[in-house]
This record gives sequence, structure tokens and C-alpha cells, in this order.
Amino acid sequence: MTTTHNLGFPRLGLRREMKKAVEAYWQGTINADQLARTGRDLRRHHWEIQQQAGIDWIPVGDFSWYDHVLDTSCLLGCVPERFAHPGGAVALDTYFRMARGRAPSGQPRPACEMTKWFDTNYHYLVPEPTPDQAFSLSSEKLFEEFAEAREILGDKAKPVLLGPLSWLWLGKCHAESFDKLTLLPRLLPVYGEILQRLKDQGAQWIQIDEPILALDLPPSWLTAFEQSYHQLQIKGLNLLLAVYFGPLAGNLKTACSLPVAGLHVDAVRAPEELSRVADWLPAHKVLSVGIVDGRNVWRSDLDEALEALASLHDRRELWLAPSCSLLHTPVDLDAETGIDAELKTWLAFAVQKLEELTLLKQALDHGPEIVADPLEASRRAIASRRASKRVTDPAVRRRQAEITPAAERRANPYPVRREAQRAKLDLPLLPTTTIGSFPQTPEIRARRRDFKQGEISADDYTAFLKKQIAFCVQKQEAYGLDVLAHGEPERNDMVEYFGEQLEGFAFTRNGWVQSYGSRCVKPPIIYGDVSRPRPMTVDWIRYAQSLTPKPMKGMLTGPVTMLQWSFVRDDLPRRDTCLQIALSLRDEVADLEAAGIGVIQIDEPALREGLPLRRKDWPAYLDWSVGCFRIASSGVRDETQIHTHMCYAEFNDIIESIAALDADVITIEATRSKMDLLDAFAGFEYPNEIGPGVYDIHSPNVPSAEEMATLLELAAGKIPLERLWVNPDCGLKTRQWPEVDAALGNMVEAARILRRKYS
Ligand code: GLN
Ligand code: ZN
Repeated sequence: MTTTHNLGFPRLGLRREMKKAVEAYWQGTINADQLARTGRDLRRHHWEIQQQAGIDWIPVGDFSWYDHVLDTSCLLGCVPERFAHPGGAVALDTYFRMARGRAPSGQPRPACEMTKWFDTNYHYLVPEPTPDQAFSLSSEKLFEEFAEAREILGDKAKPVLLGPLSWLWLGKCHAESFDKLTLLPRLLPVYGEILQRLKDQGAQWIQIDEPILALDLPPSWLTAFEQSYHQLQIKGLNLLLAVYFGPLAGNLKTACSLPVAGLHVDAVRAPEELSRVADWLPAHKVLSVGIVDGRNVWRSDLDEALEALASLHDRRELWLAPSCSLLHTPVDLDAETGIDAELKTWLAFAVQKLEELTLLKQALDHGPEIVADPLEASRRAIASRRASKRVTDPAVRRRQAEITPAAERRANPYPVRREAQRAKLDLPLLPTTTIGSFPQTPEIRARRRDFKQGEISADDYTAFLKKQIAFCVQKQEAYGLDVLAHGEPERNDMVEYFGEQLEGFAFTRNGWVQSYGSRCVKPPIIYGDVSRPRPMTVDWIRYAQSLTPKPMKGMLTGPVTMLQWSFVRDDLPRRDTCLQIALSLRDEVADLEAAGIGVIQIDEPALREGLPLRRKDWPAYLDWSVGCFRIASSGVRDETQIHTHMCYAEFNDIIESIAALDADVITIEATRSKMDLLDAFAGFEYPNEIGPGVYDIHSPNVPSAEEMATLLELAAGKIPLERLWVNPDCGLKTRQWPEVDAALGNMVEAARILRRKYS
């Protein structure tokens, strides 16, 4: 008999109840009891949904008010000193202060660092163990939720826990050259206690997530896995070790031989490994096959899945699951109203994915005839998607096939272009600019809403936006900036804005996915070949340029970022979709140039986060992603200056690829690291121009001209002056006008201080 289970359910709620409740609590409009009640209701509802979908073992402990890694840190009593945790159970407001720096009670403190969860767009809070960290069971949350769940689900409640090795791996110890593994002997007894308590409460199976087994691990960590799991054995308690997001590869034998009762593997990301796992995993252990894609929104090809499972099913008892937690998918397709009927038949959100698992189980155990009707419906949907004219566009395919290597290269190398650009743009030493967006005021958001709801006409909306652009241009001239931006008032989101104008993209109305804490995103769905029916930005930029003699930057989102922040096709390699977006952007770049725009910025903030989990896969990714950027940007004349922007500070391991983009100017985030990251550029002798940010836009603080001049001096010590630009770290969208007025005025003054000094 086949068993189904789920690894994790979306926490947000269909109407983002979790977000609303937690934000209301932060604002003081509901109290902790009310918050707790919403949590209980949501969890109960989610368990019932999963039960109704026919799932056998249902996860408990996957719910969180902010992040499950933070939950685990609190469970283990790992609270950084600055939060003044007195010991005992971690208070709710301490938890929120760790998450976001402040809470209704307690002193505000710098929040814990937040970073991306593997290669997803979900962010977790980085554990901060110290070398002398003591651990103790410090939260009742998991046990309380398990007790709640047992009332509803009975024995079929399955607690979920982030494993000790993955928790440690994800942590950052601020002491230098400290080996985190030395903490294990202190950590494991607490894990032992947790497991024992859950068993005493009636747990039969516990899912213990060790996603780091999908990474390249040092041998000492693999050894630590063996030792740890030997120590965590408890008689009568079954541990299901869950690995997801990629193949086990070199970790396969270790994973299969650990003394646990079952192993979950990601058969979507690593289908080719499934039979090896089945060979190596002892027959008495449960094999959980992650057969339904937990990272994407497509309906499964059930015939294909059944074929992959058939031979395994003959040999051993199988568990079926989504490839990973469903945290990364929207909740329920049935509640979606923004997607047309045809496209909808091609999709599956969390609820539908669970229903697919139940179908697969029935087909395996009783033969496909027993579910003939739903199987047939699924087959029809898959066939309709394959054959659809909306999916494949012969013109796009032809163009893709005809690309020559020349399309990836500017006509001349940077030194030649530089002279042409100098002559054309006539910029001072240390030119000043911004990253693009200016404050998105409540007024702008209100007008956009009015327009979307049909309450104001397109003409009125356009007139309003033009006024905003004119206002931004005036402001920038008054600050004395050298290269201006139009301010992006027409854009709600840097991907959505372009996706809405491209063929092949669709947008949901309710397809929310948690990004971090209460922040949700609605990723676009790329379902077909991408092309650009008409120019997307040219009218706005041309208008902005008409208002000023200074150069106006064209402002585009790069192909890799658009790919990275969308749900992508599973019927076409990512690189091909990326190339299609790049070709669309290439046309936009050409149109901007033809409209007289001399500086064009193509933002790629997501280039780095697209790096594959395994190093061996990096070169291929960097090769196509850099190639796509170059295809988007290389069709211009020498004198047209291409900028790119990236807002992160880790360039060391990809600096060659950054240089290979061959952008004339790159603007990056540098304020917080005090220009340290420029060492990567200096060491590599980065050949083109760089604008290291001197104004940290993530903070409401306004830096003085002197502070920024000091940062510029630091930069000038590393990068030749004539190749330095002066700009903020990122766009100014989230800031207020008074801060921007003061900060940009100071920034221009800082550039002047240095110009006086050096010329
Ligand atoms: N041009 C965009 C802006 O200024 C860039 C945003 C980003 O880097 N994330 O808002
Ligand atoms: Zn940025």
C-alpha cells in the first residue's frame, strides 16, 4: 500500500490571513491572544484541507509567524545576547525583535541577518550561535501545535523539524575561523529531548529536514551526519529524513545509510537519481518520492509520474510527497480569478498538488482504471498545453535559432566605447546618478489603484504619471545630478511591469507566496514563448528626456532577473526562456537608442541568486546568464552607454562573470561594507566603470556630504578616479521625499568635494 504525505503547507492563508494578523499585532490593533487565535484557526483549516485532499500524514510545525529557521533557533534557545533573553521560553516579542528589530514590547535591536533559503525566493533568519553557545529547549510552540493537531488529525499528525546539521550549516558564527561542528555535542541532546517529547505526545513519524544534503559538503560534515543520527535514534520513533532542491550526488550513500526509518528525495529536481537511491536505500526503510513539483505551479504529468513510480512500487513500499514543502507555491487554484480558463487547466497550486498525490496513490495501488476520469482530464490538460499556439511561437523560435555569436558582442571594446561616450555625454569627473526609482508615494499608489479599478481614465492616469516624471526631473536638476532617471512612477514592480507587456507571461490575482515574514510576492507565470509586441518604456523615457538637456537613463529589468523572479516553464530549459526575454529587451534597447536615449541601464539584481546550489553547475549557468545579458545589451552603438545595477555585496566568486557582462558602468551596493567589496573589483582589475553606492537606502538615516566623501575617498583608493561614479546603493522607491532631498543634495556635494580635491 502506498502512503501519501506532505512536507509543509503554505502558511499565509488563502486571503493572507497570517500576514494581516501579524501586521495588526505589530501595529497594536490586536493582542497576543487574538493573534494566537488566528494562528489556531489557520492551522486547523490547513490541516483539514490536507485531510480532505486525501493526504495520509500531515505536517505539523510547518506553520510560523515569521520563519521556520527562526522558530528552530528559538526552540533550541539560541537567542543572540543583544535581545536580552532571560532564559526560559522565548517570548513572542523577543521572537519578533529577532525577526525585524522591533516588537510591541522590548527594546529595539538590530534584527538578525536575513538571507535566501537555498535557491528559492524565501528568506530565512540566520542563526547566530556563539562558540560558547549553550542550548536548551526554549519554546513550546511545536509541542502545542502537535497537541492541537492530534485533536484534529489523530495519529496522522507528523511533526516537522529542521535537522541539527542544516540548522548549524545555515548559522553564522561571528567568531573567526570557528568550526560550528564543535557545537554538535551540545546541540544534539536538545534535539534528543525534542524527539523524546514528541514521541511521548504520541508521534510515530517525525520529518526531519536536512536540505543541506543537496549541497557540496565537506567530509567532516558528512561524518557528522553519521554520528549525529546514531545519537538521535529513539526506540519506537520513526525519523523520515527529508532532502530536497537537488540530487544527493556524492552524499547519496551517506543519506541512504543513516540510521533513520525513511528518506525523502526530490524526484523533480533529480529524477535520474531515483533508481540509485532505491538501490542503495535498505529495503526495510521507507522511500519517500517527491514526485509533484513543490517549486512550480504546473499540473503534473500523471502518466509520466506513474511510469517513474511503477517499477519502484513493485519493489518496495512507497511514500509519495511534493518534491519539497509547498511553502513555495500559492495555496489554491480554485480561488484564483486572474488567470484565464484555459491556462488554469494547466496549473496546480498547493491544494491541487496534494490531490494529484492522492490520485497517484490510488492508481498505483488499485490500477489506473479506478481513477480513469481524473486521469483522463489531466491527460487532456497536458495535451492541450503541449499543442497550444499560446505556448510555442514559431517566429520566436526562428529568431532564437538564428542568433549569431556577434549578437553577444558590442562592436568595439570598452576603451574605444569610452572615448565615444565621453565625446557624446560630456560628463564631469565622478559623475553622479541614481539607481532609477524615486519615492512611490501613497498618492502614486492610490492613482494606480484607481486606474486599475477603472475609476480614472487612461488619459488621466498618463497625465498624472507625466506630472510625476516632470517633478522627479526638476528635483534631480535642482540637486545637480549629472545623469537623470525618470523615477519609475508607472511601475508597481520591476518584473511585473515588463511581464505585463510581454507575450508569454500571465499574472495571478491571488497567487501569493511568502517572501519573508509578512512580505508576500505574486510571481508572474511564464507559460509560453516570450516576445515583445510593442515598445514598453520608450514613450516615458522620451518624455522625460524632452524635459532636460541632461542625459536621461533608459531603465530596464534584465533577462535573468525577470526569469529568476517568475514561475518558469517546465517544458523549456530556463536558458531558452532567458534568451527569449533577452531578445525582447534587445529590441527595447534599440528603440530607446533610436529615440535619442544615450544611457540605458539594465538591472540584474537577481543574477547572483540564480547561481545553482552545486559549484559544478556554476560555469554553465554563468555562461548562459551572462550571454543573455550581453544579447540584451550589445546591439547599440559605441557612444550609447550601458549601465547595469546589482544590489548585493558579494562579488568575489563571480567577479569574472560580472566583468564579462561588459557593461560600461556597473552600480553596486557598497555603503554597509564600507567599500570593502571593491577589493574584489580592484584585485581583479575590473576594466570598466563602477558606481559603488555611498548612500544606504535601506535606512531612513540621511548621510552627510562628509560621510559620503569619506566613502568616496575609500573607493578612490581602490578604483581609478576617472572610472568612478557616485550613486546610492539601490532605488529610492521605499524612501520619503524629505530624506531623498537631503541625501541626494549631500551626495552631489560629496562628489564636488572630491572633484575640488583631485582636479
Ligand atoms: N531600477 C530599480 C529601482 O531603482 C532597481 C531596483 C533593484 O535593484 N532591486 O528601483
Ligand atoms: Zn538595487
